[in-house]
Formats: sequence, C-alpha cells, structure tokens
Amino acid sequence: MERVPYVIVGGGLAATAAIDAIRRRDKTGRLVLVGAEPHLPYDRVPLSKDYLLGRMEREHVFLRQPRFYERHRVERFLGQTATALDTDTNTITLEDGRQIPFQKLLIATGGRPRRLPIPGADLEGISYLRTLEDSDALQAGMAEAQRAVVVGGGFIGCEVATAFAQSGLQTTLIEVAPAPLSLVLDVETCAFITSFLSQQGVALRTGTAATRFFGEEGSVQGVVTDSGENIEADVAVIGVGIAPNTELAAAAGLNVDNGVVVNEYLEAAEAIYAAGDIARYYSPTLQRHLRVEHYDVALQHGRTAGANMAGARVAYSELPYFFSHMGPLHIDVIGDMSNRQQCVRRGPLSLEPGFAQFYFADDLLQAALFVNGKPEHLQAARERIAQRRPVADPAGFADETRDPAAL
Ligand SMILES: Cc1cc2nc3c(=O)[nH]c(=O)nc-3n(C[C@H](O)[C@H](O)[C@H](O)COP(=O)(O)OP(=O)(O)OC[C@H]3O[C@@H](n4cnc5c(N)ncnc54)[C@H](O)[C@@H]3O)c2cc1C
Repeated sequence: MERVPYVIVGGGLAATAAIDAIRRRDKTGRLVLVGAEPHLPYDRVPLSKDYLLGRMEREHVFLRQPRFYERHRVERFLGQTATALDTDTNTITLEDGRQIPFQKLLIATGGRPRRLPIPGADLEGISYLRTLEDSDALQAGMAEAQRAVVVGGGFIGCEVATAFAQSGLQTTLIEVAPAPLSLVLDVETCAFITSFLSQQGVALRTGTAATRFFGEEGSVQGVVTDSGENIEADVAVIGVGIAPNTELAAAAGLNVDNGVVVNEYLEAAEAIYAAGDIARYYSPTLQRHLRVEHYDVALQHGRTAGANMAGARVAYSELPYFFSHMGPLHIDVIGDMSNRQQCVRRGPLSLEPGFAQFYFADDLLQAALFVNGKPEHLQAARERIAQRRPVADPAGFADETRDPAAL
C-alpha cells in the first residue's frame, strides 16, 4: 500500500495549523486528517465566551471553511478515532479497521476534561465544557435556568461564571483554593479577579470543595460543599482541568510523561511529531520541558510541526503566551509564570486603563501579565523577556512615567 506522506491525527487547532504549514511547502503530497469529532476543526475559545452567550454564529466557530480543505486536497476521516499506532511499520489504524501507512505523522489529540469524582456528578444539567456539543447543551440549559453553579475557578470556570452572570443567572463559583486562578496567577491579580467576579454578580465560595450534587428525577438541583452549604442550581459546569489524550502514543511505546514528550522540533520519534495541548515540549528558550494548554501554543506548535514534517528543521522557541476574556476583563500573559521570585505592578488595580504585572527571578524578567493591556506593550514585554538580559532595577518597571514599550 502506498505510504501517505502526511497523516495528522486529531482534528483541532494544532492539526489545522499543521495543514497550513505543510501546504506552504508541499502543495500536492497526499495529506490525511483523522479526527474523532464529526466536525471540521473549530475554535474552542468562543465556546465559553461569545458562542456560549449566543453572540457568535455557529459557522464562525470553524477555523477554516470546507473549501479550504477542498483546495488543499485534505482527505478527511472525521468522526473516526485512530485506535492504534504501530511504530515498527509506521502505520495507524482507524476505528473502522482501515490502516494508513505514513511517511510522517502528527499526533495532535488534545485533551479531555478531568472528571470530578463526586456523587451526583452525572445528573442531567451538569456539564463539562470542551466541545461544540457541550457548549450547545449548556446554552440550552442556561435558557431554562435561573440559578447556576460553577465548580472550579480556573480560566474556563471564571469565563463561564462571568457568562452566566452576564446572562442574568444567579451564579455561584466554588473553588477549593483560596482564590480563583491562584494556581496560575499572583496573589494580587487573583484578589483583583475575585473582586471583579463579585462585581459581575458572581457569588464566590473559596477554600471549599464541592462534595456532592443533589437532584430530583435525574436532574441537578444543587451542590453541597465541604463547609456544609447547600447551593441550589438548575445548571452546573465542572471545570477542573484537562487530561491529555495520550493513550494512542502510550500504547505505541512513545515516551509519555504528562503529555507526549517531544524535542524542540516537536519530534516524539523519527517521523512522528506531537503538537498542542498534548505535547510536553522542550523549550530551548526556557531550557526545560513544559506542556501548555492554550491556544497560541497549539497554533504555533501546529505550524512548526507541519513545516518540519514537510522538510524544514525549525525549533519551536516561542515563549508561552495565553489570553483569557471574561466580559470586559481581558488578560494576556507572556513568558514563564511558574518561575517568579518578585512581582512588580505597573498601574493601579483597575479595569480602565488596566495594569501590568512583571515577574522577575534571578535578575531576569520571566513573564508579564496585562489586564486590558495594549498589543504593543505585550510585544515589548515579549521581546524584553526573550532578550534574557539582567534587569538592574526591577522596581523601575512600576514607573508609569516611563514608556512601557521602551522598558
Ligand atoms: C471552552 C474553552 C475555552 C478556551 N479558551 C481559551 C482562551 O481564552 N485562551 C487560550 O489561550 N486557550 C483557550 N482554550 C484552550 C485552547 O482551545 C486549546 O489549547 C486548543 O484547542 C488546543 O488545541 P489542540 O489542537 O492541541 O487540541 P484540541 O483542540 O483538543 O483538538 C484535538 C482533537 O483531537 C481529537 N482526538 C482525540 N483523540 C483522537 C484520536 N485517537 N483519533 C482522532 N482524533 C482524536 C479530539 O476529539 C479533538 O477534536 C480554551 C479551551 C476550551 C475548551
């Protein structure tokens, strides 16, 4: 059987970006896309924001229109899971039994929501939010509901809680940590987001865990917390993180350790690449492995992997970047937030005109966060972090009289 030059498993953002990159270098080589979902690849970002609120047409959620795949002659196997990968023969098997021998393979299978193992979590009206169907079902549930609860104060939890409150639902957010987002952001910014959510009308229960859902006739009616509180709700969302879909790679004997381990060229093994939420990649800039579950990394990973599959040899050396939108609050974070010894704020904690936090460790600027920041400031921070030049006076970053772009 003819070996297919390019096979991509996983029909999401990284996959689409890889198609783009492959076709820039090779217009004609056979290209096969295998995706477990029945849809063409779509953007998950609006699913907790504009799309959930009914402010975005369904057709605008798709990353590319059907003609893109026609024009680029992408052979699509959608609604088909790749069930096995044989690394001796470089062949993948699909759930219908079809076998596809490949020259180059990209695994971009993303992640799935972590389940919350508490009683009642399977009641109707409780959802996780990952797919278009999840967002549609949640939107339908919201239309019937008056009270909503969100379990988990990560980015998706905070975004959904904001969307609930904006659509007039009486909303409660439960977070086991002392504040929402406290696993990721600094204490001061978390406190700011806490007060922002309260102003939006979200009631917060922090430092407490959901212990069970209760309901009647199979439908959710509320949740009980470990502090003994009963919170009534007609609709609930659980957002407690994702687990990477590594089964295919693990069963094939690839190196899997909290993600598929890849080098800076995003190679997991010879001729096999991994990209996006699933990839634990080596960053030559940060000199360590990391896995990032955000849009920009999936996009740039897809581009890098696609180019390399088609004959380039480019390293993925971008700094991690992510954004989140909660109604009027826009957050951008660039760099490595995990490495911070000192935090310097520029501007008062306010939505307008917004503020920035700069994170330093070992005399270096490691990361920067912007609340309602400007693109040019983000770009300046990106360049400054990438320079890895010692900063003599980190406190000077607080000086609002200095042009932020010149910092
Ligand atoms: C609701 C929501 C809101 C978000 N908002 C933001 C945001 O504001 N900012 C931000 O930076 N990031 C955000 N993200 C994260 C961002 O969407 C992800 O990082 C990005 O989608 C990852 O892309 P991916 O291609 O790696 O994986 P995915 O988009 O998950 O695509 C993987 C695809 O592979 C399929 N698949 C899995 N296993 C197989 C198999 N064996 N065979 C075939 N196909 C398979 C899956 O079904 C899926 O369709 C959000 C995510 C969600 C869910």
